[in-house]
Amino acid sequence: MHARVQYPESIEPLVQFIEQTPPGEILDRTLEKLRAGIDAKTMLTASALAVVRSADLPPGHHGGPLHPLAGLHAITNLVGRLEGEDRFLPILQHVALSNKHINDPVTSPFSLLEFGPLDTSGTDVSRAADLANDGSGEIVTSKGVEANKEAFLKAVRGGKGLVAYHFASAAFARPNWEEYEKAVAGGWRSQGYHGPAHAYTVKKTDAKHPISEGLPEKFDHVVDELYQNSVITPGSVILATAYSDPSKPRGTGKDEPVIWANRYGQGRVVENVLGHDTKAMADPNYQQWMRRCVLWAATGKAE
Ligand SMILES: [Zn+2]
Repeated sequence: MHARVQYPESIEPLVQFIEQTPPGEILDRTLEKLRAGIDAKTMLTASALAVVRSADLPPGHHGGPLHPLAGLHAITNLVGRLEGEDRFLPILQHVALSNKHINDPVTSPFSLLEFGPLDTSGTDVSRAADLANDGSGEIVTSKGVEANKEAFLKAVRGGKGLVAYHFASAAFARPNWEEYEKAVAGGWRSQGYHGPAHAYTVKKTDAKHPISEGLPEKFDHVVDELYQNSVITPGSVILATAYSDPSKPRGTGKDEPVIWANRYGQGRVVENVLGHDTKAMADPNYQQWMRRCVLWAATGKAE
């Protein structure tokens, strides 16, 4: 069951007051409370907590829940400098803004849910659940993170496609998780390196493969990192390379593999080490290759 985050009894009713009072009444009702003696700090705390609880705002909303909170310190000091009922003004403004956030259909209603801390040691994969999942009969008995790692390998071995993209091939390298290295078909691991990013030509190899079939022999790639000295696991079919110019810093003078395919068990695996940043990914040639890599890994066809 989902439960909303609850605050201590000392403040919860006041938070609910800010959440639930109709926007047309919030100023008058808050003024009543301030006149009745609720102090500025308590009211501002409740106002801030009300916004925090509605924090799951839609992504387009400017600044999310931040702006009613950002001014809290200044508002508290401002209240201290004002006299009489003028002191209520900044508080009223804050409460009204929080109330608006919560009641405006664009920004709310959203409620922050309460979750217990994630305890990975308890994620035991039961035999029955495991068999029910894929029917392969291969049972994962490990726990926690190890269970996730096992399940990952098992999924790929069992035929799920895998695309290892750019620096993903450096994961689990120190110390080396050998099965992961095999599953992603090698790559950067811990021996890989590159010089400064630069524009270079990517060439299709002669290998016959659904991913590269029908694609142009080469393309001029935009500025990108060129991975060098990649691990290429046995059985890998190199689909594209790029020449590393030895006159450039750290250049190797070799055709460096940049896209290759392999199998891990029944799973189709592609490694594509291109695409360091969004500028590199914006290259339509890169996109065409990547699209075909993903299609092939997922379906065995690239059309
Ligand atoms: Zn990179």
